[in-house]
Amino acid sequence: MERVILVRYTEIHLKGLNRPFFEQKLIENIRISLRGISCKVERKQGRIYVTGVAEDRFDEAIDRLKHVFGVYSISPALAVEKDWNCVCETAFSLMEKQVAEDPGLSFKVFARRSDKNYFMNSDQINRELGHEVLERFPSVHVDIHKPKVSLCVEIREKAYVYAEEIPCAKGMPVGTAGRAMLLISGGIDSPVAGYMMAKRGLFLSAVHFYSYPYTSERARDKVVELARLVSAYSGPIRLHLVPFTDIQMLIYDACPEKETTVIMRRLMMEIAERIAVSDGAKALITGEALGQVASQTLESLCVTDDAVSMPVFRPLIGFDKDDIMDYARRIGTYETSILPYEDCCTVFVPKHPVTRPVVEDIRASEAAVDFSELIEKAIENTEHIVVHPGDAKLI
Ligand code: ATP
Ligand code: MG
Repeated sequence: MERVILVRYTEIHLKGLNRPFFEQKLIENIRISLRGISCKVERKQGRIYVTGVAEDRFDEAIDRLKHVFGVYSISPALAVEKDWNCVCETAFSLMEKQVAEDPGLSFKVFARRSDKNYFMNSDQINRELGHEVLERFPSVHVDIHKPKVSLCVEIREKAYVYAEEIPCAKGMPVGTAGRAMLLISGGIDSPVAGYMMAKRGLFLSAVHFYSYPYTSERARDKVVELARLVSAYSGPIRLHLVPFTDIQMLIYDACPEKETTVIMRRLMMEIAERIAVSDGAKALITGEALGQVASQTLESLCVTDDAVSMPVFRPLIGFDKDDIMDYARRIGTYETSILPYEDCCTVFVPKHPVTRPVVEDIRASEAAVDFSELIEKAIENTEHIVVHPGDAKLI
C-alpha cells in the first residue's frame, strides 16, 4: 500500500490544442512548489499523481499543493493492487476512523473504472463495495444524495481509494499568461492584486519604492515578507527595491504642493515600466480601487496611466475595502499588511491634493523639472532580489 496524492485540474481542459502546454506548466509549478520534498510528479489520464512523499512530509506536501494555481482539488489516496479483497480492506481502513467518530454516518461509494478489463464495472463496484461496507460497519447507512463520506475507488493501473477531496486554489497555472510587474506597497491591497493576477496565469515581478530615512528598514522587510507570502501561490517573485527619496524630495521642492501625489505616482509608474521592460514583463499591476483615496479618482487614474504605455491591470478596481480585507485574510497577507510601518506614499502627503487633475497641467508641471538624472540614478541603485515561498520569515 502506498500513499499518493491525486491532483485534479479543470480550467485547463478548456484550452484545446494548448492543453499540453498548460499541463506541462502546471506540472512544472507543482514540482517547484514541492521543492525540498523528495517525490515523483507525473501525469496520467487527465490526472497528476504525486508519489513517493515521505510519511513525515505528507501533510506539508498537501498544504503546498493547495496553493498552486491551476490545481482544482487534491485527494490523499491509498494506491493498492486491484485485488478485490485488497480494495475492500483499504476502503475499510479509511472508514474505520470516521465511523469511530460518528457511528451513524452516511456514505456512498463512487467508483470509476478506466481499466476496462477489470472484472466489475463501476456500477457493480458501487454495489459490491457498498454491501461490504454495510456488513463490516452495521451502524452506517447509504445516502447517495448527501453522504457524509464519499468513498471513491478508481480502477486504473492500480486501485486508488480515497474519501477526501480538498478544494485548492483553482485559476490558471502561473506562467501560462506571461509576466507582469506588480507595484507592491506594504498595504493591504497590492498583495491581493498580485495574487489575483497570478491566479490568471501571470508570472510576477514586483517593484517597491522606499524612502530611507523617512521609511524604515522594517517597512522594507515587511514588503519582502508580503512578497514571500504571495510567492506561496505565484512561485518565486523577482523583487526590485527602488530608492525613491531623492526623487520624492525633488518633487516636494519643485512641484506645486497639491500635485505632488499624482506626480509621484506618475514617476513610480514610469520607473516600474522601465524595470518591467528589462524584466520581460508586459503589463503593470496595482492595488488601486476606484474612489478609495484622492489619487484613485477616475481623473487621477487617467493621469497616472498617461505616464506609461503598458496596460495597467487594476484587479481591485470595483472592490469595497471590506471585501479586499476579507480577501487578504483568506490568502494570509492581512496580518502582515496591517503592521504599522509607513509607506513612502504616506510621507509628505499634501494637505489638499488635486482630486481631478488635468493631464495637460500635470504634464506641464512635471516637464518643468528635470527628473531624468535622478530616475537613472534610482534605477541604477535598485536592488534586485528573488523571493521564494520557502525563505525564512523576516518579521
Ligand atoms: P495598498 O494597500 O496596496 O498600499 P492603498 O490603498 O494604500 O494601496 P496607495 O497607497 O495610494 O493605495 O497606493 C495605490 C497603489 O500604488 C498600491 O496598491 C500599489 O500598487 C502602488 N504603490 C503604493 N505605494 C507603493 C510603493 N511604495 N512601492 C510600489 N508601489 C506602491
Ligand atoms: Mg498604500
